Amino acid sequence: MDEEKNTITLHPVHGANGHLGYCPGCEQPSGELMFLGIANTVFVCEQCGTKLLSEEMPKEECPTCGSTQYRVDHELGTGETIPGSLCKTCREKLEHEEKLLKEGGIYFRCLTCNQKGIITDKEVCDKVREKSGITEGPVGVEFEEDCPFCIQRKQDPESN
Ligand SMILES: [Zn+2]
Ligand SMILES: [Zn+2]
Ligand SMILES: [Zn+2]
Repeated sequence: MDEEKNTITLHPVHGANGHLGYCPGCEQPSGELMFLGIANTVFVCEQCGTKLLSEEMPKEECPTCGSTQYRVDHELGTGETIPGSLCKTCREKLEHEEKLLKEGGIYFRCLTCNQKGIITDKEVCDKVREKSGITEGPVGVEFEEDCPFCIQRKQDPESN
């Protein structure tokens, strides 16, 4: 009946293999039902931790960071939720971030706590751009020790 449903290969045990989705941004249920068929293994990008569902080791580039190095995380269990599309809140957050980037903000990522975000402080941005030699377009900075989130966590280990 439904053309799209015919494009998946049925899993020998789980059949159409329906799983409910969650938002990959905040991990709240997204209300989607997705049919995976034989794509029943969770792979994790070695570089950024993005999860992909596939039958075998993915060959495509990671949608988040472009890496092609993955490791097997686990076989999906029955009733396990899977990463779906971004919820409204996260989508709005993403749009907001894109706007900040357009206005000259820069990405940051902490190598210790994996916190990601955008810096809009003009002074900091100018310094990073000067250092990297990139005056336009996306620029990123990576923290190792001086990450404000790590510092905050150390001061207040109960939060998070
Ligand atoms: Zn979300
Ligand atoms: Zn990645
Ligand atoms: Zn950190």
